[in-house]
Amino acid sequence: MSTQNHTHSESKLNQLTEREKTRCLIVGSGPAGFTAAIYAARANLSPVLYMGLQPGGQLTTTTDVENFPGYPGGITGTEMMEDMQKQAERFGTDVRYGMVTDVDFSGDIHRILVDDEKLIEAETVIISTGATAKYLGLESEEKFKAAGVSACATCDGFFYKGLDVAVVGGGDTAAEEALYLASLCRKVYLIVRKDHLRASPVMTDRVARNQKIEVLFKRNTKELLGDKVLREAVLIKNMGEEGEEEERITIDGFFLAIGHTPNSFPFNKFAATNKDGYILTEGKSTRTTIAGVFASGDVQDNTYRQAVTAAGTGCMAAMDAERYLGEKE
Ligand code: NDP
Repeated sequence: MSTQNHTHSESKLNQLTEREKTRCLIVGSGPAGFTAAIYAARANLSPVLYMGLQPGGQLTTTTDVENFPGYPGGITGTEMMEDMQKQAERFGTDVRYGMVTDVDFSGDIHRILVDDEKLIEAETVIISTGATAKYLGLESEEKFKAAGVSACATCDGFFYKGLDVAVVGGGDTAAEEALYLASLCRKVYLIVRKDHLRASPVMTDRVARNQKIEVLFKRNTKELLGDKVLREAVLIKNMGEEGEEEERITIDGFFLAIGHTPNSFPFNKFAATNKDGYILTEGKSTRTTIAGVFASGDVQDNTYRQAVTAAGTGCMAAMDAERYLGEKE
């Protein structure tokens, strides 16, 4: 975000005279945000929840969720998020469309600017804005988005049934996506920039045992080629070393699994983050470095990143907010 934008928004924050007051503002509409809303609403905090750019969060980009307890037959991500929203609304959460564009957490009352035009004054804020998948940053990656390039195998794998695909990354996500795709596709290349996987031993072992997966170690992706749809990836083997060479693989799908970026802007102007941008929380709580501001879900968790853990921390955040308000009174 540019400094110009900051300046513009800051002046907007100070210009607006009309403001709405709330005891509890929740930002984000994934499992963390909606769970926080259910708990906050039931605690009579009358929460207001802004859904952000992707109502329902990352789960709405997956197909079946099979590991959330209580759904023995699985449930689609979209359905689960619709149910969570209904449950939050049932207890009185005011769920709204809108993006938080700026904040001022310098005072006792927190000021939040929504869509650059609405000012909210909140006694407590729960940040549940999640994380977004990373891309390599190639121009050709942009060109083939939705025409061969995807950052979610569980969402898009189905379209590549019986075809050849590649997954980039060496962590647990990459291993999981490669294994998932191997159940659908003819061949899966796993493109790893180092000479080993970072994934856990059990996942590494599963990948190694899967006949459909070919791991390409020490490869970097240079470019993606095709006409209207993706056809080929150009890789560099042993980049920067002796024996560096270019090679090509023929593929129909290219899946990114190289990690996520937490959606901590603009909250990180005040709340401290770690070096990767994840909002820091204190000990076994959701308290950030700003009193009255709490963080739950993937925006503060780079380790577990599960719907159920996000929901768990959403519950914690609402309880922490309630306690904070109680202590203030
Ligand atoms: P990680 O950060 O663990 O791994 C990212 C991978 O992408 C690394 O192998 C990294 O390479 C590679 N990478 C990063 N940038 C680039 C790039 N520009 N070009 C090529 N490769 C790149 O992210 P994950 O999403 O895999 O996992 C995040 C966390 O979630 C981890 O703690 C993981 O254990 C957990 N998780 C657990 C699961 C489970 O238990 N079932 C499932 C999924 C995730 P390098 O190694 O060289 O840095």
